[in-house]
Amino acid sequence: MSTTSSTPAEPVTGSVTDRLVAANRAYADQFTDPGMDARPVLKVAVVACMDARIDLHAALGLHLGDCHTIRNAGGVVTDDTIRSLTISQRALGTRSVVLIHHTGCGLESLTEDFRTELEHEVGQRPTWAVDGFTDVDQDVRQSINRVRTSPFLLHTDDVRGFVFDVHTGLLREITAE
Ligand SMILES: [Zn+2]
Repeated sequence: MSTTSSTPAEPVTGSVTDRLVAANRAYADQFTDPGMDARPVLKVAVVACMDARIDLHAALGLHLGDCHTIRNAGGVVTDDTIRSLTISQRALGTRSVVLIHHTGCGLESLTEDFRTELEHEVGQRPTWAVDGFTDVDQDVRQSINRVRTSPFLLHTDDVRGFVFDVHTGLLREITAE
């Protein structure tokens, strides 16, 4: 990890959260209220995997206030993703949806057996699906279809899906079939 000029004033000890809180003090010192509205400037919601290697704002040329970002394991379009997209569109005016999955996703090695193993371990079967996959292109197509067919969304005409290559930083568009 590179050192930056924004090292906190106080030596950082303790947990990673303590470190984040210290970094926040330095951030707030430099912060000026941009006076923004909560409605995303570009009227777009980006649904992406939580993968630590994807810097969404940098990768897409986005700035503060431009978009909603909805992230989870896999960038899967779950009921909760639809919940966020519905609020994004109906309460906060977004019209476009961009879906981003990526190469080398952790979900490629997980199957629904994961739920069974959990059930055996803790004595309770999770209500959620793992939504693992083996074909990332097909998974993006499935996600596009889940958004396009949602009855709750106002805008489903501009929904596009991509695979982000974690080695090159490039997006590859997946066309719906
Ligand atoms: Zn991933």
